[in-house]
Parts: sequence; C-alpha cells; structure tokens
Amino acid sequence: MQPELHDVVVVGAGPVGLAVGRLLGLQGHDVVILERWPEPYGLPRAVVFDDEIGRAFQSMGLSDEVKAISEPVHDSYEWRNAQGRTLVKIPWELDRPCGWGTSFFSQPELEQVLADAVTAMPNVRLRRGAEVVQIHETDDDVLVTYTSAVTKQRRIRARYVVGCDGANSFVRQRMGVSMVDRGFFFDWLVVDTKPHDEADWAPPGWDDVDPVPQNWQMCDPARPTTVVSGGPGRRRWEFMRLPGETRDSLNDPAKAWELLAAWGRTPENTDLERHAVYTFGARWADAWNKGRLILAGDAAHQMPPFAGQGMCSGMRDAANLSWKLDRVLSGRGCVHQDGVRAGSDPDDRRVV
Ligand SMILES: Cc1cc2nc3c(=O)[nH]c(=O)nc-3n(C[C@H](O)[C@H](O)[C@H](O)COP(=O)(O)OP(=O)(O)OC[C@H]3O[C@@H](n4cnc5c(N)ncnc54)[C@H](O)[C@@H]3O)c2cc1C
Repeated sequence: MQPELHDVVVVGAGPVGLAVGRLLGLQGHDVVILERWPEPYGLPRAVVFDDEIGRAFQSMGLSDEVKAISEPVHDSYEWRNAQGRTLVKIPWELDRPCGWGTSFFSQPELEQVLADAVTAMPNVRLRRGAEVVQIHETDDDVLVTYTSAVTKQRRIRARYVVGCDGANSFVRQRMGVSMVDRGFFFDWLVVDTKPHDEADWAPPGWDDVDPVPQNWQMCDPARPTTVVSGGPGRRRWEFMRLPGETRDSLNDPAKAWELLAAWGRTPENTDLERHAVYTFGARWADAWNKGRLILAGDAAHQMPPFAGQGMCSGMRDAANLSWKLDRVLSGRGCVHQDGVRAGSDPDDRRVV
C-alpha cells in the first residue's frame, strides 16, 4: 500500500515552518509539519520583528494574538560608544501607516501562538517527536521517512517538501547544495531577565550622558553588549565572549549575574529567566530549491542578530513561498530552478 499523500510536508516547527503551514493551510492545502523534538524549543532567541512581519502575522489572521504578546518600540535604536556618544541612530519608533511598528517579543511565546493556530486547522497536522531521516524524490512526489516514539519509522508522501529545519538543515544536505560562508563567528552569552522595576537601561555612572533609548548596542571594545527589550516585562542582555574567555566559563549563571551586576541588576531586583551561549554566523545556501525540495528560514540563510532580521527574513520566505506554492499546487504555476513560473506551461519563462 502506498503511504498517504499530502500537498506539502514541512520539516521543522520553528517559527518559519509553522508560518509556512499556517499560510498554506489558510489557502486550503493539506499540510503535515514534522518536528524532531516532542516539546517546543524554550531557549532565548529572536526578540524583535519589523512592521512588514507584523503585516505577515496579520495575513495569518493572528494580529490580536501577536499584539497581545509583543510591545511596540517608542524610540530609536542606537549604537553608542563606551562614552555614550551615539554612533548610529535608526528610527524604529516611526508610526507606520499599516498599523504595525517594530515590536519586541519572546520567541517561545510567538511559537506558541503559531502552533496553537496550526493545531486548530483541520487541514494542517503538526506532529512533534517526528525526526525526518530520509527523503526520496521521484518525478511525481517525495517520499519522507521519519522516526517517532510511537511507531519506529513512518513514511508519508508529499507533492513538495519545504525544509524549515534550521541552520544544520537535513533537507539542505539532502539537496546537496553548498553554503556561502562570510566567516563571521563570534560567541555571545544571551541573558533573558524579568526585572522587578522599570529602570533606566544605562550603565551606572552615565549621569552626564543623553538618556539611552529602550533598545541599544554598547560598542565598548572592553565588552560589546546588547541591551534590548525581550517583550512585555522582559529585558535581554547579550555579552560578547572576549579573547581568553572560554564558552564554558561564559555559559554559567554565576557569570551571567557577574555581568548583570555591572548594570545594577541583582537577584533582589531581577529574575534570571534563561541564559545560553550562541555562535553567530553569516551564511546562505547557494540554491533554495531543487526539484520538489525547497528551503526557507535559517535552513536557507543565517545572519548575526544585531539588526533583528534572522527570523524576519524567514517569515518573508514563508509569505513569498506560500502564495507561489499555492499557484503550483492549484495548477497555475510550476517550480523551476530559477523560481516559480507564472503559468503551468514549463516553457513559459515568466518568473514571479
Ligand atoms: C540570540 C539570538 C537572537 C536572535 N534575535 C533575533 C531577532 O531579534 N529577530 C529576528 O528576526 N531573528 C533573530 N534571531 C534569529 C531567529 O531566532 C532565527 O532566524 C529563527 O529561529 C529561525 O527560524 P526557523 O524556523 O528557520 O528555524 P529554527 O527556529 O531553528 O527551527 C528549526 C526546527 O527544525 C527542527 N528540525 C531540525 N531537523 C529536523 C529533522 N530532521 N526533522 C524534523 N525536525 C527537524 C528543529 O528541531 C527546529 O525546531 C536570533 C537568533 C539568536 C540565536
């Protein structure tokens, strides 16, 4: 007996995989999302999205849910030197006519909103604890094998597979595409906190300096530091690993408290929610689709977080891909190496 056939299998239930599932599901397609881990990923990652991504959430029918867990920016994003002088000022506070501005949030809460939305859809199934271990492509479909705790191995078929399976993407390896790597590798300790008060987020002793904005970067060679919102009720600090420090010595709650103390933060006025060391990179895959396999999100591209655009770029992939795949699945377009063609005729060379 042939395994069940679906329109699309999405590999990975990070924010991008869930967004692809939601957008294709809203267009009536039969989608299965396979996620390796039984529980959502709980460690700190993205904290900011821009107005364009707000509109993407709106197109997913999730405006109220996303606004309920995010906080809009009310001033500029600044990069300052160690003396507090502004080096770069980005007007993040601008009121956009679309009703969305730059907003801060906590990624696990956003992923919960997206997961609840897809779980409520009868034509989208989210299977957690399902690791994709094999992909076999034929002319007509793709056979996907995954392992699960219940059945040792299961196979399903799909007309297309979208790899939203993150930086070490299995789908990308299966496609055999190479990465362009800018060679940018730096370790940073990311610390999420819940302060008990609404403080001024300048380091102590900056009394003569212009007040710092809500979100800013301290470009101090002695310890480059990110100081931003982590969504309603949260603050995020990110501390660069210095030459001579090890990852292990940095990835320690005692070290997190030592670094926070320089900002006037102690267990008396702040809860330490999470901490983790990340190596930031700048890489992209040199092809994003091959045959019936397609990449989106971190599987296709990764960037350092200082502009807050990693997940946003993945959300743009989801928005772009979903209307094009809709055309293909409904016979009004076809997939080619150079993109999705407008018509169903493979000789029609108009690319949309
Ligand atoms: C410290 C930090 C701060 C950041 N800040 C921002 C920010 O402010 N704004 C922003 O836009 N971005 C930010 N980013 C980037 C953002 O977090 C990522 O771009 C985003 O999580 C990528 O989403 P994704 O869905 O593509 O991949 P992921 O979130 O990595 O999800 C991939 C999923 O695929 C699953 N998977 C992998 N292999 C398989 C398999 N074989 N079978 C089944 N499932 C599999 C994984 O378990 C995972 O759940 C930040 C990143 C970091 C580390």
